[in-house]
Amino acid sequence: MPREILAREKSPGKSAARRPSPAAAEVEARDRETVLGTYARTSFHPVSGRGARLFDSDGKAYWDLLGGIAVNALGIRHPRLVRALAEGARGVWHVSNLFYHPSQGLLAERLVRASGLSKAFFCNSGTEAIEAAIKLARLANPGRAGIVAVEESFHGRTFGALSVTGHEEYRRPFEPLVPGARFVPPNDAAALSAAVTEETSAILLEPVMGEAGVIALSDEFLRAARKAADRSGATLIFDEIQCGLGRTGTLFAHERAGVSPDAVTLAKALGGGLPLGAVVVGEKLSGVVRPGHHGTTFGGNPLACRLGLAFLEAIEEEGLLARVEAAGRRLGSALAALARRNPSVRDVRGAGLIWGIELDRPAGPVARRLLDLGFVVGTARERVIRLLPPYIIPRSALAGFVRALDQILSEERPA
Ligand code: PLP
Repeated sequence: MPREILAREKSPGKSAARRPSPAAAEVEARDRETVLGTYARTSFHPVSGRGARLFDSDGKAYWDLLGGIAVNALGIRHPRLVRALAEGARGVWHVSNLFYHPSQGLLAERLVRASGLSKAFFCNSGTEAIEAAIKLARLANPGRAGIVAVEESFHGRTFGALSVTGHEEYRRPFEPLVPGARFVPPNDAAALSAAVTEETSAILLEPVMGEAGVIALSDEFLRAARKAADRSGATLIFDEIQCGLGRTGTLFAHERAGVSPDAVTLAKALGGGLPLGAVVVGEKLSGVVRPGHHGTTFGGNPLACRLGLAFLEAIEEEGLLARVEAAGRRLGSALAALARRNPSVRDVRGAGLIWGIELDRPAGPVARRLLDLGFVVGTARERVIRLLPPYIIPRSALAGFVRALDQILSEERPA
């Protein structure tokens, strides 16, 4: 059992390089021995945290610029989430979807009101939200098997979601997959329009493609997708599992384009740290569903929905969208200035608090150096540092990160 560690608040950026303690080494050895090797884990053991800070098992402090891959959008132990969890723990944790509990309807109501759509279905993860969305699209268009998606996109690991994931490396080991997927280059509106036919049941797009290295789909492309869907009768689905729920500075990333989808998929931040996914659908899809068409044992359970409500209340009542917007503007300028003075930065892309920094070298070793300096970041593809910090990240943490990255990239140039 891991010990409860009392974190000593050493300031980020001042400690020496990490080496696992004997206790941490034991955890890693057991994991390697017993847990299926689907992840290339980094030797980092966060055991506690507060806000945007994480503390490892040696008490060293880190700024969290990854947020558990866009899950911990309110940081660690946000008072509203702690309260919701404590209240929920006093009630029934699980009731099954055969019966009622209030939080599911309340959360659906909030999502429906905010999105302008009409109904929500709850599940446990992003990939399940995609499965639900593509099944509903089939119901709305019986017999039409085509799904048009984007090259390099990512929609999840289950068979349906994997089949419509544009990143070929993920698909290849599992082929043959579910037939019908077609992929078009990002932001090629003409290719998209040409690919959508009377056989297409859905067009599936990530308004900001996170796993692809933070590549935004243009407003023009999203509008062309709406037009193609209207022309053909296909369903337009926006996958906002990573880029939605405030991440870009608006509640839904597609708002900036003024395009309304027929369905939007959500997960990650939605459950405030507990597993929760959703597909929110408009009239076109809500009207075709009958009991028995789809379901899940755990989806939309009372605890996760309670946290989801607390998360959405925090977004609204604590002015977090404006905060994300302002943080994104400052971070964007700081990264653009870094790119101008440091030729190792090839490109910076993003909005709000989702950013990709494309380097002239593999991102993995740079991310590990950043960890040594007290900054937890992600990577995407081979050369992109990816940032998905909590919405409450302080200004000083982002400024400190830019300085640390500048320092690392100036230390040595790739051969
Ligand atoms: N869609 C997008 C855009 C994602 O970023 C992810 C996960 O990274 C998924 C779908 C799959 O979500 P999950 O890992 O919760 O199944």
